[in-house]
Amino acid sequence: MLKVAEHDVSRAKFPVIDMHTHPQVRLEKPVDVSQGESKGESRRAVVSSDAVDAFVRLMDEQNIAVCVSLDGGLGTKLEDHQRLLWTKHRDRFAILANIDFKGRGQQDQPATWDCNQPGFVERTVEQLRAAQASGISGLKFFKEFGLGVRNADGSLATIDDPKWDPIWEACGRLKLVVLIHTADPLAFFEPIDATNERWEELRRHPDWSFHGPQWPKHADLLAALLRVVKKHRQTTFIAAHVANLPEDLSTVGRWLDENPNLHVEIAARIAELGRQPFTAREFLVKYADRVMFGTDGPRTADRLKLHWRFFQTRDEYFPYAENEFPPQGFWRIYGVDLPDDVLRKVYYQNAVRLIPGVEERLRRVTAER
Ligand SMILES: [Zn+2]
Repeated sequence: MLKVAEHDVSRAKFPVIDMHTHPQVRLEKPVDVSQGESKGESRRAVVSSDAVDAFVRLMDEQNIAVCVSLDGGLGTKLEDHQRLLWTKHRDRFAILANIDFKGRGQQDQPATWDCNQPGFVERTVEQLRAAQASGISGLKFFKEFGLGVRNADGSLATIDDPKWDPIWEACGRLKLVVLIHTADPLAFFEPIDATNERWEELRRHPDWSFHGPQWPKHADLLAALLRVVKKHRQTTFIAAHVANLPEDLSTVGRWLDENPNLHVEIAARIAELGRQPFTAREFLVKYADRVMFGTDGPRTADRLKLHWRFFQTRDEYFPYAENEFPPQGFWRIYGVDLPDDVLRKVYYQNAVRLIPGVEERLRRVTAER
């Protein structure tokens, strides 16, 4: 029965760089993946250039100047992805590469995975060098790094295993940013029971749970990441999803204080930020130079508008998603009404400063308008 002001913010107030998108995954049409080789291969072929065109029209409408695709892959996958996005829209998409740890190895036999073959790290560094020369902006790690990549003996590979050091060093040397998804929401590491604040979601997706002795602790995963960040000061790290700790912004703030080469982006976390609007606003203002915008999209117009509403208004108690039931937790959010100078930094200026290739793109895109 609550009756409070509602603002329908139809587009972003300033040009936006969406730091976290998955065009390869989300623009694809539903497809039967039961046949064919690996799931990844057959899915990769189906994103149409029409779907990309339609998404670029939505970007124009919403004032999103550039999206950073996190689906680049490496080698021939990267070439396919570059062709998909860059044939017509090179100015609208920067691309981050990904490492294929499993390669042609067998799913249930880690000893056969590429990452456990001799020379894997050296080959990856060489691929990164070639990828940088072809115009990519950085390297994205998925949450599998820490929760799925395994050593030959079957144990989980750790994020701070020194064997990966040449990769971090190469990213620093080549000026490639590292966007890394470490751990997941805190609730996913808790038992799936009546006390879990995201029970509805975990009940729908029990495979998203990392609760149990077979999984590392949330805090240990983040601690390993921070050791890497400390050890490689020449490398720029962006911890995805507010370092997967938006539930505790004072700790994230301390990490940012201690690590000048660490940054965060907010993709898929307005639900978290918006349930603590005073704390979130203070955090965003204090760390305005360290936080970037992201969506984990491509998202619909309705979802994008909720982001602008969150950042640009003081609206109270509104849904953070257009879904019939809230996808992440059964609560609503409040706008943080950021001042223009902070909004500009979060929306585009930080990405312009930190992500290679974004500045030129933004300049060309805004000049066209
Ligand atoms: Zn993502």
